[in-house]
Amino acid sequence: MSVVDYEALRQVIDIPAPARELLSRPEKQISFALSLPLGDEFFCADAHVVYHNTARGVAKGGIRFDPNVTLEETQDLAELMSMKTALSQIPFGGGKSSIKADPQKLAPLEKDSLIKEFVHMIRKEFFYPLDYVPAPDMGTNPRDMAIIYGETHIPESVTGKPPRNGGLAGRREATGRGVAAVAALAWEQAGGESLAGATCAVQGFGNVGSWTCQFLADRGVCIVGVADIHGGIYDEQGIDIYGLLEHVAAGHLLIDFGPTRISNAELLALPVDFLIPAASGEVLTEQNADSVTTKLIIEAANHPVTSEGDAILAENGVTVVPDILANSGGVVASYLEWRLGKSGAMTTEQETYQVIDKTMAETAGRVWDFADERMTMRTAAWALAVDELVKAMADRGWF
Ligand code: NAD
Repeated sequence: MSVVDYEALRQVIDIPAPARELLSRPEKQISFALSLPLGDEFFCADAHVVYHNTARGVAKGGIRFDPNVTLEETQDLAELMSMKTALSQIPFGGGKSSIKADPQKLAPLEKDSLIKEFVHMIRKEFFYPLDYVPAPDMGTNPRDMAIIYGETHIPESVTGKPPRNGGLAGRREATGRGVAAVAALAWEQAGGESLAGATCAVQGFGNVGSWTCQFLADRGVCIVGVADIHGGIYDEQGIDIYGLLEHVAAGHLLIDFGPTRISNAELLALPVDFLIPAASGEVLTEQNADSVTTKLIIEAANHPVTSEGDAILAENGVTVVPDILANSGGVVASYLEWRLGKSGAMTTEQETYQVIDKTMAETAGRVWDFADERMTMRTAAWALAVDELVKAMADRGWF
């Protein structure tokens, strides 16, 4: 099953049958077991690496570390990466990998060992040909990428590393930076004036959610609700985001920041100017899409809205800025880091921000120009991405 509805896209663009066949399944995938001796106990985790499409470049996509992740989810995420890199016109293909384990339940050294084992298991097929280039995703972070770099000793084999370990200044906050930039553009497109004073709710306060909140707060957005896996908080006057960042960094639970606790379901239904799901996938479905009261959703998470949920939101007049556009700031910065790894050049944080802001604005502009009343913004973004992929596969003589 694909995330992208190729059949529906054929109403909008020409997709030759062989191209559709090639895009509807992963190009290559491998599943394996990672074992970890833990004293008297023994821990074993399923792992997967999926290349969805490499017509435009190496398979690029993060490593998800999650106790519930499946091969099917990894395939969906790899497909979205092909779409994202094609839409942004970055010379990468799409891939993804996953490790089925709960990072919260592993000690740092245990997690390091699993990551090292992950590299050892796939180094010949994937790492040393430099065909798959990972980055952080849910449950992984810059330190994990530094562990990978420590195993490969090749700077361009992995992105999202800490800046002092061959990483890029500005990469850590890149996805959130791009989400905030797209939120501002979408707000303007919807007829809003200044973003300052607009209200917003954000689900997820990890890498993407917390940086998105910070960049939005810097622009004067009034963030009235924030949630993570333990639940949410609400303040109609606006949550003190800088205080919340310090509170969480000090090891406290987000829900203890106050003043009012709300559930994740309540957060998604808040009557805000825009809503940002920035946590796990499939949080807006046919079960709860009708409860959404905002008119603008910015998809910072990957695949937060199911196709059934999407249809209900479209019916209710909710504009959804799709994941492959909204959260592409991270892969844009990853491209800079990969290039930097190859060349040894140096890039400042401000230069990284400038490239993200410019690329997000250009990509969003192309999506808005292409979209018309026949299609949602998601369909427009998919159409541009698929068209690019079809041409790249044809150029390579794949059909
Ligand atoms: P993370 O692990 O740093 O943070 C995840 C956050 O989501 C945490 O606050 C966690 O508590 C919360 N969460 C998890 N499950 C939840 C649930 N069921 N309900 C409510 N909250 C829940 O992950 P991240 O890197 O911030 O990634 C978040 C999303 O953004 C993912 O969908 C990921 O694929 C996507 N994304 C990440 C990047 C990146 O650069 N890290 C880039 C593009 C897209």
